[in-house]
Amino acid sequence: MQGLVFTGDRSVELREFNDPIPGPGEVIVKIRASGMCGSDLHVYRGSAVTSSPQLLIQGHEPCGEIVELGPGVSARAAAVGDRVMIHHYWGCGTCVQCRSGWPQLCTTEEPRVPTLNEHGAHAQFMKIPLIQTMPLPDTLSFETGAAIGCGTGTAWGALTRMGDLTGKTLTIFGQGPVGLSATMFAASLGARVIAVDINDTRLEQARAFGADTVVNSSAGDAVDAVRAATSGQGSQLVMETSGVTPVAAQALEAVATWGTVCFIGIGANVEFNTRDTLRRQLTLLTSWTLSTVDQIRCADYVDAHQLPVDELFTHRWALNEASEAYQWFDKQDAGKGVFVFD
Ligand SMILES: [Zn+2]
Ligand SMILES: [Zn+2]
Repeated sequence: MQGLVFTGDRSVELREFNDPIPGPGEVIVKIRASGMCGSDLHVYRGSAVTSSPQLLIQGHEPCGEIVELGPGVSARAAAVGDRVMIHHYWGCGTCVQCRSGWPQLCTTEEPRVPTLNEHGAHAQFMKIPLIQTMPLPDTLSFETGAAIGCGTGTAWGALTRMGDLTGKTLTIFGQGPVGLSATMFAASLGARVIAVDINDTRLEQARAFGADTVVNSSAGDAVDAVRAATSGQGSQLVMETSGVTPVAAQALEAVATWGTVCFIGIGANVEFNTRDTLRRQLTLLTSWTLSTVDQIRCADYVDAHQLPVDELFTHRWALNEASEAYQWFDKQDAGKGVFVFD
């Protein structure tokens, strides 16, 4: 089969790999959709390499169909033709974190992560432990299942940690694929969403996904705009998705007394003074991806409410268009891409 690798300095190559063979407890998934995620770009932009890990097959938002069962996989647990999402980490399977659905936090061994130390999903087939696959509801597309596997699931995971959203104002800094997903979920869950970004195209989509108020932060002070939209009180809930340090500082400023700020953008340095923060009784938290159980619940919620997750994807590509696809994605203008396979 062919798989996509990043060879460094923003170049990609399709290379030949042996078709994967399932070991005990594993299955082979024929990939039908493999999402492009913002975190791909860290490796894509990296310096040139000739050896692993960068020459592993890329792609960590997979979704597809089971085509082969490995030894010991019960026919009651899985069947050829099953449509599955993938939780793209696996660990020892027996520690408390693994047992509670968080193999990415495995405490006994280094978690296996496609693209980092295992082959990823920008290929025709992927080998995965059955336990890391989960059913894709019939009404959901493979693209939606791929998004739930990382970016959209990350938004869901953070919102579930922020508690009841009903009737509250939630300001979401950054309306990339994760922020837009958060806007869609939060509006559906009954929050009043204030969406902040520097890109009008993203803000238009945020509006279409249910944002009540949109703020272009390149046109003026975002904190002032949030205060103006909340009778001067600030936002009860704030989510920071950009990972940009000055934006993270704005997220802290925009929250109301007794409010909660959740930081999910990677890379920001967040500074806060305890005196100022405790006197506003703030709750500050972080969130990283989601558990296997939450991934199933997320897909069920999308199914039950028929949320338009597919509309996050503005570009669909064939794998042999990957060079053009990543050049486009690297600009980070707006939109999200996915490789689709017949
Ligand atoms: Zn990702
Ligand atoms: Zn473990």
